[in-house]
This record gives sequence, structure tokens and C-alpha cells, in this order.
Amino acid sequence: MLERTLSILKPDATRRNLTGEINACFEKAGLRIVAQKRIRLTKEQAQKFYGVHSERPFYNDLCESMLVGPVVVQVLEGKNAVLKNREVMGATNPENAEPGTIRKLFAESIQENSVHGSDSLENAKIEIGFFFSECEIVG
Ligand code: GDP
Repeated sequence: MLERTLSILKPDATRRNLTGEINACFEKAGLRIVAQKRIRLTKEQAQKFYGVHSERPFYNDLCESMLVGPVVVQVLEGKNAVLKNREVMGATNPENAEPGTIRKLFAESIQENSVHGSDSLENAKIEIGFFFSECEIVG
């Protein structure tokens, strides 16, 4: 099924000028970047976006880590895009990520792990709506 998912290139990736290399990983896997913008998150946006993790001990650090530099928010489209993107990203902790995945190749730590990707189709719809209006997505 043709799906759309939200992806974020995190500040550790933009700082190291890795946006092109990471985008190449998506495109090689058959995911199309159908919307993309480079922005600075506000504290309020970061806290709201990661609200599901508000009880976790790393919540404040996680939100702060999203504010230290620009991020690239993007919509990826493709067959089974949600799961496909999770495969291309690799495990949350780069130590557990499969060889060749973005996090194995590029992540600095479990927190500074270069990319975010929606974990379900339902969340993808919510997260895409968080950053993009329909007219900004060009499939
Ligand atoms: P994801 O879906 O693979 O991004 O993982 P989660 O939804 O579980 O966590 C969201 C983000 O929180 C991760 O991408 C990491 O940046 C961060 N995170 C997850 N687990 C930990 C942890 O144990 N410690 C720290 N410091 N950050 C974590």
C-alpha cells in the first residue's frame, strides 16, 4: 500500500552536514521525499512532538537535543513507507542497529541518533499534520 510517513533529520545530522547522505539512503530504498523543509523547532514544538515520552527520564534531554540546531522535517512516500523507513533507519540504539542502516552508519548515541521516523500509519498522519499542510506535499 502506498503510504506516507514523517521523517526528521535531527540536529546531530544537520551539524555534520549529513542531510544529503541520509536522503540518499531513503531514495535508494525506494522512498520518495515528497515534502521537505529545514526549520528550527521551538521548545513548545519539541515538547509537544515528543509528548508521548513526557514520563520518560530522558524526556527533557531529548527535547533539548532537538533545539541545539536546525532539523529537516520531511514526508517520505512509498510502498509500506512507515515500516520501510523504520527498516532503513535501524534500531533506536545504534549499537543494536543492523549494518547499513542510517543509525548504524551515522548515529552518535541512543539519543543523538540522526533520524526520527513515525512508528505507525496512525502516528504518521498525526505527525505529518504537525509540520505540513496538504498543499506542501507534492507526490
Ligand atoms: P524511535 O522511534 O526509534 O526514535 O525511538 P523511541 O520512540 O523509543 O524514542 C524517541 C527518541 O528518544 C529516540 O529516537 C532517541 O532520540 C530518544 N531515546 C530513546 N530511548 C532513549 C534512552 O534510553 N536514552 C536517551 N537519552 N534517549 C533515548
